Amino acid sequence: MTDWIAEEARYLFQNYGRQPVVLVRGEGTRVWDAEGRSYLDFVGGLAVNVLGHCHPAVVEALRRQSAELIHVSNLYYSTPMIELAKLLTELSGLDRVFFCNSGTEAVEAAIKLARRWGRDTRGGAYEIISAVDGFHGRTLGALAATGTARYREPFEPLPPGFVHVPWNDVEAVRAATTERTVAVLLEPIQGEGGVNLPAPGYLREVERWCRERGLLLILDEIQTGNGRTGTFFAFQQEGVRPDVVCLAKGLAGGVPIGAVIARDEVARHLVPGDHGTTFGGNPLACAAGVATVRYILEHDLTARARAAGERLTTALRSLEDRHPLVAGVRGRGLMLAVQLARDAAAEVTNAARERGLLVNNVRPNAVRLLPPLTVTDAELDEACRILESALDAVGGA
Ligand SMILES: *Cc1c(COP(=O)(O)O)cnc(C)c1O
Repeated sequence: MTDWIAEEARYLFQNYGRQPVVLVRGEGTRVWDAEGRSYLDFVGGLAVNVLGHCHPAVVEALRRQSAELIHVSNLYYSTPMIELAKLLTELSGLDRVFFCNSGTEAVEAAIKLARRWGRDTRGGAYEIISAVDGFHGRTLGALAATGTARYREPFEPLPPGFVHVPWNDVEAVRAATTERTVAVLLEPIQGEGGVNLPAPGYLREVERWCRERGLLLILDEIQTGNGRTGTFFAFQQEGVRPDVVCLAKGLAGGVPIGAVIARDEVARHLVPGDHGTTFGGNPLACAAGVATVRYILEHDLTARARAAGERLTTALRSLEDRHPLVAGVRGRGLMLAVQLARDAAAEVTNAARERGLLVNNVRPNAVRLLPPLTVTDAELDEACRILESALDAVGGA
C-alpha cells in the first residue's frame, strides 16, 4: 500500500501541520480514511462543507454543469454567476457582486475597492482599520489587514495603509481614525482568532462611527456567512448594514469560490481594467454556489444552525460542569469553541481524532467545532460523547 504520508513529505511544500490521517471519502458529517476508519467531521473543511460531504444537491449541480460548461472567462457572459449574484444581493440587501476564488482574494478585492472609492470620493483616503486577532487571509494585502503579528512579521515589508486596534473597543477605532482612513474591516465573530464574539452593540457603534466619519464598513463574513451562525450573514443578528461584505469558504459547498458584495455607490467605482481574475464567476463554482445557497434557503438551514448550535452548546456546557479541563463554551450557531483551562487543545484534538471525531485546535487552549449545517441531533450527541472521552483521556485541569 502507498505510504501517502511519506509521499506527501517527499513531494509537497511542508507548510502545513497536518493531522496523521489520509481522508479518502466523505458523506454527510462523516469522512473515512485510507484504512477504512470513519470520523465525525466537526471541522468541515474549515467551515467550508456547510452541507456536509458530497451532498447530493452539490454533486448533482456539479455533474450537470460540468457536462454543459466548466469555464469560459470574464470576456463573456455566463449564467450561473448571474443567478448566484442575484441570490446574494437579495439575501444581503446589497446591490452588486464580484466573484473570485478564495477568501483572501475577496479581501484583496474589498481592499482595492475601498482604495478606489477613497481616491474618487475621499481625497485619496486609503487606510483601513482592522482588529487585533482578526484574520483576513494570507496574500499580502489581506495579511497586512490580519491582526496577528506572528503571521505578518516573516513577510514584512507588507503594503502600507493598515492599522490594528483591539477587538471590541470602539473607542480605539475612533482614536485610530484620521483623514487618511477609508474603511473599517472586521469579522462579525473572529474565527481563526478563537471564536471571539462581538460585545453587545460593538458592531453597531462601529457602524455609527463609520457613518459619522464617512468610512466604509467592510465585514469579513468568510467564516461566519452562509448560514453558519444562525442567519445567512452574521451581521443580520447585529442590526448593522455594512457597505461591503466578503464571502468564501462555505458559499459553494466545498468548491473554491469567493465573493465581494457591495452597495452600488461603492461597487461602481471599480471600472473595467481595475480588477479581475481568470476563474472568478466560473460556471462550475457558481453552479455549486447556487445549489448550496438554494438548499440552505429551501431547507431553512439557518434555523437548523441555530437549533443545533443550542443543543451542542447545552451539551458542551454540561461537560463544563463535569470536567475540570473545560473552562467555557462560546460562539453562535454552529461556530463554537470550547475554552480549556490549560494549553491542551492539541492533546484534546489528537485524543478526539483517535476516538473518531475531528475537531480543530484553533488556539493552544481552545478547540473549535464547525460541523455542517446538516448535522443531525444523533451526530451532535455522539460528538459530545467522544469529546468527553477525549477530555477524560487527556486528564484534568
Ligand atoms: C478563512 C478566512 C479567510 C481566508 O480565506 P482563504 O480562502 O483561506 O483565503 C479570510 N477571512 C476569514 C474570516 C477567514 O475565516
